[in-house]
Amino acid sequence: MKYETDEYIINYNECDKEYIEDFIKYFEQEKDNIFKFFNIDKLNKKLIIKLYDTVDRYSEYRKYQLSESSVGNMSYDDNYYFIHMLSYKALITRKGHTDKQLDDFYKLLVHEFVHVCHEDKGNIRNSLLWIREGIAILLSKQKYELKELDCSLEDLLNNNQVSYTNYYTLMNCVLENCDNEYVKKIVFDSEFGKEETEKIYNEYNNKLYILNSPDSLNYITDKLDDILPNKIDEYKKIFKIDSLEPIKINYFDDIDKFRNFIYDIRGRKDTLPSYAIGTYDNGMINAYIDPNIIVDSPKYRKKLYLPCHELFHILYMKYILKNDYSKRIVWYDEGMAQFLSGEKNELLDEVKFNLYFNKVKDNTKIIPELNNLEHGNSFSNDNYDGYALSYLSIRYLNEILEEQKFYNLMSNFDQIKKYGNTIVQDMFNYYIDKYNNKVK
Ligand SMILES: [Zn+2]
Repeated sequence: MKYETDEYIINYNECDKEYIEDFIKYFEQEKDNIFKFFNIDKLNKKLIIKLYDTVDRYSEYRKYQLSESSVGNMSYDDNYYFIHMLSYKALITRKGHTDKQLDDFYKLLVHEFVHVCHEDKGNIRNSLLWIREGIAILLSKQKYELKELDCSLEDLLNNNQVSYTNYYTLMNCVLENCDNEYVKKIVFDSEFGKEETEKIYNEYNNKLYILNSPDSLNYITDKLDDILPNKIDEYKKIFKIDSLEPIKINYFDDIDKFRNFIYDIRGRKDTLPSYAIGTYDNGMINAYIDPNIIVDSPKYRKKLYLPCHELFHILYMKYILKNDYSKRIVWYDEGMAQFLSGEKNELLDEVKFNLYFNKVKDNTKIIPELNNLEHGNSFSNDNYDGYALSYLSIRYLNEILEEQKFYNLMSNFDQIKKYGNTIVQDMFNYYIDKYNNKVK
């Protein structure tokens, strides 16, 4: 069966019929974006897309030189470009592809099409593997996770086969930190790409965080470099970890853009409460931030230290709770995140702290059952502020416990709950006593 336009032909099979329309529609949608990146209007040769309904047939065409995870490739001769790929039902039998959805299958076509355009531009054979695969993954929007690199600079320069995650991670870093002209130059100019690889590799390896944020939030993000690297060092010690992959931070100055970004990740529209302005989906720090906050106000400090706060939650979930959400004791997690992040560092000043303490005490009309607090209305309301009580409780623990005991408590859930039963009252008594004695 055959579908033909001026630019391309698709040869497909009986089994492809059910999605062929969507397949074409998706391709048409993405094609122009790819053309735009490569600054081309039309390919120099016609493209033939061939779908193989069995692995055997595809393998035969590849002269049986096929790795067990191969699902597609591109080639060309004097007259045509070719994209060869497995039909969906054959693709999902291949190693590493068994969980692929139709959407992933469409993206594979776009991935190969990026290679075709790259070739059309004239130099795919000369460009480094990490560059040609990296740009194909990124432009085709294939789903990969950002991970710490597990390849050497030599691997990249010698085109050694390493995990595609490396290519994705590096190219993603380039796209997010460099302007479009630079990205195009390393892709189009293979010599320039080779020259820049060492710099890119080293820069990435020294990177502690990757920030994706609009310029309107520079008044906050410009100061991150003074705060976050030190905090990361501190957390590494607390959580006893040697290395940490770069932390991805996505900021938005527009609440709808933020919400759409989260919906894209979660795939469902009903899972984000209407008041949510921050999440840590996929281990990333995602937040909406108002571009007009008064500098140095408490709200400003809260946003400034937000990555330190969220990073505590992320590391606590990963290294202590081992991703078991049911173990999370919300007051403890929130108290620690506020206490350790630095967002309330102005309260290290005793006078300011005393004022803060008295205000919280006066505004606490009911002492809640701390262990039962979950996020939402029960966490903070007119009768008490769960965040403030959590912060004060942790600060109190920090004052009465030896340092080692304070940190050991992180994984002693029974003990945390035991404290939780009475800690708010104990903390109030402790500070009332402390400051009264001081006054005397
Ligand atoms: Zn929090």
